[in-house]
Amino acid sequence: MSVQVRFAPSPTGLLHVGGARTALFNWLFARHHGGDFILRIEDTDEARNTAAAVQIIFDALRWLGLEWDEGPVSAGDPTASKGDRGPYFQSCRKEIYRRRIQELKDKGLAYERDGAVKFRMTREPVIIPDLVAGDVERKLTDREEADPDFVIVRSDGQPVFHLVNVIDDLEMGITHVVRGEDHLSNTSKHIQLFKAFGAEPPKFAHIPLILNPDGSKMSKRDTGASMGTYMDGFFLPEAVINYLCLLGWSPKDDSQLLKIEDVAARFDLPQILRGNARFDMGKLQWLNGEHLKTAAPERFHALCLRELGRGGVDVSGARPEYLAAVLETYREKYQQLIDAPASAAFYFTDDYVMDPEAAAGALNAEAAPLVERLIAELEKLPQFNADAIQALYKPLSKELGVKVGALVAPTRVALTGSKVGPSLYHLMEILGREKVCSRLRKALAGLGA
Ligand code: GLU
Repeated sequence: MSVQVRFAPSPTGLLHVGGARTALFNWLFARHHGGDFILRIEDTDEARNTAAAVQIIFDALRWLGLEWDEGPVSAGDPTASKGDRGPYFQSCRKEIYRRRIQELKDKGLAYERDGAVKFRMTREPVIIPDLVAGDVERKLTDREEADPDFVIVRSDGQPVFHLVNVIDDLEMGITHVVRGEDHLSNTSKHIQLFKAFGAEPPKFAHIPLILNPDGSKMSKRDTGASMGTYMDGFFLPEAVINYLCLLGWSPKDDSQLLKIEDVAARFDLPQILRGNARFDMGKLQWLNGEHLKTAAPERFHALCLRELGRGGVDVSGARPEYLAAVLETYREKYQQLIDAPASAAFYFTDDYVMDPEAAAGALNAEAAPLVERLIAELEKLPQFNADAIQALYKPLSKELGVKVGALVAPTRVALTGSKVGPSLYHLMEILGREKVCSRLRKALAGLGA
């Protein structure tokens, strides 16, 4: 039987990073086994579901590259036709649920009580065979001991989550339920419902939770919890995917930089780590920087330009070769593209913002004779390229009896307005001798020299 898995989010708001990881693990497992990855929107709670939240789920999955497959037509969905790529919406499947509720009633396994419908739950403990947690015995709570039966259709006619979740897994031929550990406590109910329908339950794999760095449970307001944080242009999807792969799954060797195809080739459910994973934004940012280094130039440039545009940096007058050279100076430097625009304006205008603190620290009276001498040397250089410029600084500082920093700092602040930025010698080469010398002269004039 071919593998059928599903991601079954409830569209109630943001897509949590834990939800994205659940989707990813399902997708990887399906790809590994050549099976189907089905998207099922669990939108039966009309009061809490919104169309905007459904769109957020679609956008996030597409951004991550986790395209869902066509659902099996045998899923009995009246809204599905061949070639329908899904996703399924539970709100369109009421007729299927009605039939299944009748089936339970006919079998004497469900009964009406106070306008609601209740399921006759077993009085015995239920063993949940879980591919991650091992065999988990679900004992009844004291309250359940007194009456383990539970509501499957509320008095307002709404079938509850447990019921529709199981009916859909059954109808869609789901072979493996891969979901967050918060659902482990529901699983005894689900197993009994499968049995009541005369079906073998699917295999279960409950993924441990994602915790904050301090060990507390990650809630939707915590740093990095919402997928929107990443999609806002500051992260590459392949870096986020790479990070999520490592968040609760391990490639056994110590490799960190991973491609999704390679992970799909190796991924299996028993390798999911049993302990809770701790979210580490620093590691995600590092991975993002690593993926930025190897991103194809056109893509890297397009992403940078989008960020520069958002940061209000006008690049319209720049020649394409100049622009490409400028953007390349950011590649090694940044882990997140958001860092680029604030410091990029100096490449495109002489009217860039001067950080007053940096200016006070680097462009002072002591710097004046040094800058003056530097200009003279830069003007004499036969070749104005990064290597030649770099080769100038050390001997010159020696000769002048100062540290290299005493020459570097005023140069950087005068040319860029800031203490930080791309590699100095490269940016000098790109700006060109004329601009470099004129900006240094202007700074010198300001020093009263
Ligand atoms: N709608 C449920 C949720 O979002 C799905 C649980 C499951 O995957 O079975 O938590």
